[in-house]
This record gives sequence, C-alpha cells and structure tokens, in this order.
Amino acid sequence: MHSWPAPALPQIPGTGRPVRVHDTATGALVQLDPGPVAGLYVCGITPYDATHLGHAATYVTFDVLGRALRDAGHEVRYVQNVTDVDDPLLARAVRDGIDWTRLADRETALFREDMTALSVIPPDVYLGVTESIAAIVEAVARLEGDGTAYRLAAPDAAGADIYLDISRCPGFGSVSGLGRGEMLDLFAERGGDPDRDGKRDALDPLLWRAEREGEPAWDGAGLGWGRPGWHIECTVIALTHLGMPFTVQGGGTDLAFPHHEMSAGQGCALTGEPTYASAYVHQAMVGLDGEKMSKSKGNLVLVSNLRADGVDPMAIRLALLAHHYRTEWEWTPADLTQAQARLARWRQAVSTNGGPAPDALVDVLRERVADDLDTPGALAAMDDWAAESLRAGGSDLAAPGIAARAVDRLLGIRL
Ligand code: ZN
Repeated sequence: MHSWPAPALPQIPGTGRPVRVHDTATGALVQLDPGPVAGLYVCGITPYDATHLGHAATYVTFDVLGRALRDAGHEVRYVQNVTDVDDPLLARAVRDGIDWTRLADRETALFREDMTALSVIPPDVYLGVTESIAAIVEAVARLEGDGTAYRLAAPDAAGADIYLDISRCPGFGSVSGLGRGEMLDLFAERGGDPDRDGKRDALDPLLWRAEREGEPAWDGAGLGWGRPGWHIECTVIALTHLGMPFTVQGGGTDLAFPHHEMSAGQGCALTGEPTYASAYVHQAMVGLDGEKMSKSKGNLVLVSNLRADGVDPMAIRLALLAHHYRTEWEWTPADLTQAQARLARWRQAVSTNGGPAPDALVDVLRERVADDLDTPGALAAMDDWAAESLRAGGSDLAAPGIAARAVDRLLGIRL
C-alpha cells in the first residue's frame, strides 16, 4: 500500500540529545538506546471513518518522536499497518450500503491527505491486513503446530476459529500491568470475546476467524477459509519488517490493552524472545464535550472538515502540540484560535530581517522534545524567541531562517 509524500526535513546546526520517553510497561521514563537504526511501529487506522483529532494527536506525537530520534542521529525505520478488514469496518459498510473495500480505500485516501497536510513523515512500510494474509496464515499455522494455538468449532461456520493459548506466552500482562479483572472488562469492551464457550482462557485472543456467510474470506491453506483476528496482523507485520525487539510500540492509550498486550504475547510466542518492544508509548485520549472522542460515540472533530473550512493544517498541528501527549484534554474552539494566533506570531517573527541569536532557542527546542516529547515546553521556547524578536528585533541575519528551520525539523511546523 503506498503511504503519502514525505515533507522536507530541514537541517540545523548541531545534533540532538538522546531521547527519553515514558514507557507504559515499566511506568517510568526510559532513555531510548536503539543503535544506528530505531524501529518504530505505530498502529494504523481502521478505515471506516475520517481522521478525528484524537487520531491526529497520535500520529503527530509519534511523528515528533521520529523527528527527535532522527535529530539525535538515528535512522528511523517506521512501520504502520492499516486494519483494512475487521468487524467495525464490515459493519459500517453494511450499514451504509457500500462495498467494504471501497469504504476502506476511500477512508485510507482521506487519511493520507490529512497526514500530508499535517506534515507527518510517512512510514517506510505501510501495509494493509489484506496485503499480509499469507504471512499471517503462516504465523498462525506455526502457533497451531507447536500447540500454542487451538481450534474451536463455530456454530455458524463450516470451519473452525483459531485462538491463541495465552498461558503459553510468558510475560503476558507485563505491557499493561493490569489485574485480571480489569483485563476481562477491557477485553470485552474492546473487541474481545471473554464469554465464548470452549476457550481455554477467557482472555485468549482470536487469531483466525473461520469464514461466515456474507463476510470476506481468504484461503488459509491448512487453517481453512477465513480472515485474521485483530492483533495478529500487527505482530506479523512488526516481526517481518522490524524484528524483535524493536525500539518503540506506539498508539493511543486505548490500545495498551488488549491490543499491545496481545501483540507482544504473540510476538514472544512466535520467536521465543522475551522482549517485543523496548518501550510502549501511549498517547492520551482527546475528548469533546466531556467524552472521549471516538468513532463509536460519534463525537468527532475531523481534520478533513477543519481543512475544508479553510483552517491552516499547521494551526491544527500547533493546537495538538500545545498539549503534552500524556495529558488527557478536551478540544474546544479556543484551542484552534490560540493556535492560529501563535502561528501568525511565529510567521511574523521569522519574516523580519534579522532577529535575536537562535542558538539558545535551538538548544531548548532540542532539550524539550528529547525530554519525553515536551512539546508545550518547546512551543513556549519559540513563543519567547518570537516575542523578543517582535519586541526588540535583533541583528543576527541568519536567526529567522534558523528558527523557522528548527521548528520545522523538530516540531513539523512549516512557517
Ligand atoms: Zn496494532
């Protein structure tokens, strides 16, 4: 699947610092030490609705992480999936009377446009589930072959569903750190089936769903016709294109359990290696009117709608960066007006002939971004430089250009 055009990454003097992030698994800040190449896997969209600001916050956050890692001298290998066949997508296609592949294509295209407008550096590998079926079938067959997966007859299907025996995954639970009761609640809430009769453990995730009437299905060879369960796609794509352990598994906080827990468990079961990712980094939920913004609730502010209203995508990006990724927040119209005013001030400040020396600004931008992606701190530093430039001017003729390139390189804000 093609991704989207890459924005230019301007050069600035010097090198960035080692990057620290908050790791959900340990509950602590960890310094990333990936070596020359950092492997970044961020779970992609299920393309049944347009990109809302909660999604945009996630992809912008991990874009900033990728920029910080590049600035620190690492090459970044970025992998992202598209869940282009899954229950919610199929249900929406039926509801709207549209072919599910057309719905997925349309919404994926819109996502690419949004990401391009928001100046998000595209993944190096961008893969749909439907492009990964053969590799998934091979992985599930391997798990079944060594007794880590098992079959369960389905009353409404000719074939059998296949589940992972989670007891065969040592370390299961170490990503989310949740107790069993919480796991059971979240599993039921987020696409799992804890009450399915015959499972060895209520938390065992579905690996392969046997073909049902009216649903798309692929030839799974020894597995029979069917389609992949949700979590196995990410494990297989990550193992194929990054290997274990990779540097960062990213996504929204609602993916920590079950999705990332199951992804890691499957990875460990497939490889025998204990560590799936060196750090698990999660973007806090963005709310609207007192509720989490989500497709299922329907309370969405869409990036594409804001763009259609003529809002500068850089103002949308600035509005997102004004909140730290680990802080939950609610979108209000004031977020946008403040970001628009900030963007205008910054643009004015870099449009002058000379300004205050930029060295300290570049230093603080690098320090803030590398320190657990403190984007509000980075924005404040640029605010100070811009205020000083507009108040007193400055004699450093290179300063406006360097300041503009620094916020572009590190924050993805094009002035
Ligand atoms: Zn995923």
